[in-house]
Amino acid sequence: MAVKDTIGKVLFTEKDIQKRAKELGKVITKDYAGEELILLGTLKGAIMWMSEVMKYIELDTKIDFVSASSYGSSTSSSGVVKITKDIGMDIYNKNVLIIEDIVDTGYTLRYLKEYLSDRNPKSVRICTMLDKPSRRKEKLTPDYIGFEVEDLFIVGYGLDYDQKYRNLPYISYLEATDIK
Ligand code: 5GP
Ligand code: MG
Ligand code: MG
Repeated sequence: MAVKDTIGKVLFTEKDIQKRAKELGKVITKDYAGEELILLGTLKGAIMWMSEVMKYIELDTKIDFVSASSYGSSTSSSGVVKITKDIGMDIYNKNVLIIEDIVDTGYTLRYLKEYLSDRNPKSVRICTMLDKPSRRKEKLTPDYIGFEVEDLFIVGYGLDYDQKYRNLPYISYLEATDIK
């Protein structure tokens, strides 16, 4: 029996996401007024969300990327996290805003925050496109949240299943359908 993946309903359209990114960009601009900011995107999932939010941040801003992978099955993470692409900038005494696709168990961001803190930045906060608080294993609350989602396996707008569907211009979820 083969399993074909099916995409569910549209949860958030491109317009919804852009509107929310603009709102948060304005809040971030206010919160860091007069400060410099490093936007640290997590590869690969956060690229679309980062490109939306950064347009609305009116500050002295630099961008960089980091890649952290947590080992586990393809749809859920374990607590073991490894940095596979390191940050390329000196963050000592800088404000770092991590731009994330989705916070699920919280293992990845808890690890990343600790990892960055060792370099003594001025501050580290999190701006996530999606938050799935029902699945949280770590005590971690993102500072800026695009949308809250239920316990679904989300795809689109940067989020993948087996590296596919990142290019969908909306946020949806995966439904597994058995085909005989
Ligand atoms: P964590 O469980 O450590 O909070 O989440 C780790 C990573 O797993 C997220 O940054 C994201 O890349 C991936 N992830 C968690 N939930 C989902 C989901 O619903 N859909 C997809 N595509 N990835 C997810
Ligand atoms: Mg991620
Ligand atoms: Mg993934």
